[in-house]
Amino acid sequence: MALAKDRTQISNSNPARPLSLVCGGCGCWCDDIDWDSSRPHEYRSACELGRRYFERLGTRSVGSGPPDNESLAELANALRDARRPLLTGLHQSCLETQRLVVAIADRCQAVIDPFLSDAARSKTLAFQQSGEISASWGEVKNRADVVIYWRCQPERAPRFRQRYGDQADGEFVQPADRTVIVVDSNPEPVRWQDDASASQLPRSLQFVAIDQDDRITLEQLISASQQPCPPDNHGDFRDANPGGNQVKPVWWPIHEALSHAKYAAIVIGELQTGADCHDPTVGVPLYQLLQRWTAAWNDQRRCVVVPFPGAVNHCRTAQSVLTWRTGYPMSVDFSAGFPRYDAVAFHWRELLARDEVDFVLHFSGDSVLEPANAPWAAANQRLTQWADQKPLWEIGAQQTIPRARRFLSTLTARTSATTRQRTVGRPDGILLPISVFPSGTVNREPEITEQLWSLLNRLSVEAP
Ligand code: SF4
Repeated sequence: MALAKDRTQISNSNPARPLSLVCGGCGCWCDDIDWDSSRPHEYRSACELGRRYFERLGTRSVGSGPPDNESLAELANALRDARRPLLTGLHQSCLETQRLVVAIADRCQAVIDPFLSDAARSKTLAFQQSGEISASWGEVKNRADVVIYWRCQPERAPRFRQRYGDQADGEFVQPADRTVIVVDSNPEPVRWQDDASASQLPRSLQFVAIDQDDRITLEQLISASQQPCPPDNHGDFRDANPGGNQVKPVWWPIHEALSHAKYAAIVIGELQTGADCHDPTVGVPLYQLLQRWTAAWNDQRRCVVVPFPGAVNHCRTAQSVLTWRTGYPMSVDFSAGFPRYDAVAFHWRELLARDEVDFVLHFSGDSVLEPANAPWAAANQRLTQWADQKPLWEIGAQQTIPRARRFLSTLTARTSATTRQRTVGRPDGILLPISVFPSGTVNREPEITEQLWSLLNRLSVEAP
């Protein structure tokens, strides 16, 4: 979509002209959805999930409309008066909102901590300590002859496989050349094999059922990687498992596939520790094992880890924005007047547990998921408990914290021809400008956040 000089989007809702839309139905952010008003119920290229997403944008009701100046002034004063405010959520916000929220946190000497899943937090900490061997999705599409979906349930992002995964027509590799392995404890992905059309079938497709705790599997795979199977046969698993169990290990197909790969891509969902525990010291070693295993195969072949575009990866842009603006990817505290980082002490859950914050502002952005079914439902529940006792305000398209003291809706019917630019981040780091769907409601979160930012600035000038 074209941009005017002031960086507002110029609407191209000319009914004669088809629009190219970006779909937010899952974390894939497919950017090839054609739509025109002469066939308003057709979203060409969109999958069923995507069609439901656009239909919901077009039919959801606008509650009370965007907040008035009085409500925003009340919020600005509450933020200013709070001893230690916490700004959180941001998992469904666009990059422009996330950028402004960092500035607001700085201005209010607040803590800012996006809703990262425990696995995403562990992955980030492991990445800081040991690095990561990764690639763009385009590289996976064009080069990967082995694709391993590790705890992904690929049906959660239906077109990922077609556009970038095993079903994509790559420059150097075609679907029929690929070996595909689905690794999980849950047998659900087995059904996924039946969905592939004949032309999309890979050379081989296998399901590997692993234990609930990924640590043992990864340790055994690292040990086996020292002894790749020879190119002309499938090797003897007893060589790779000396002194171990003489029964073929369940992970053997993965080892075989990597031994014969030219370019292997491990598409990662969330590694599991087998325990219900929020402590990153448990999750970080798992991601370090994954990195060691990947590194072990980067010699005569390439092996990369790329993120799966499930909803849990939505927060990656918030991490990027925080890093660009503060140098830190999460849990940043501005109370001392400069950014301080502690992924444990300044984590939002820890701060609430220690009763260290006295005001919470939660940005819930624009999610099409029902709050109760979203991956961050448990986090919402924790904030709901907190809001029983303390002031919590929420800004977003739909209310997700039922006991929020105030909910400021950002949703509006589409009345204006221009809106601020909105950018989303794909989980692999690609930034995409998103267009406003002409038949849908509009989430004005960036505009409203900008108003809040201006008010806070004015307050600080008037009463420094
Ligand atoms: S795969 Fe995801 S982003 Fe792409 S069309 Fe389907 S729901 Fe939309």
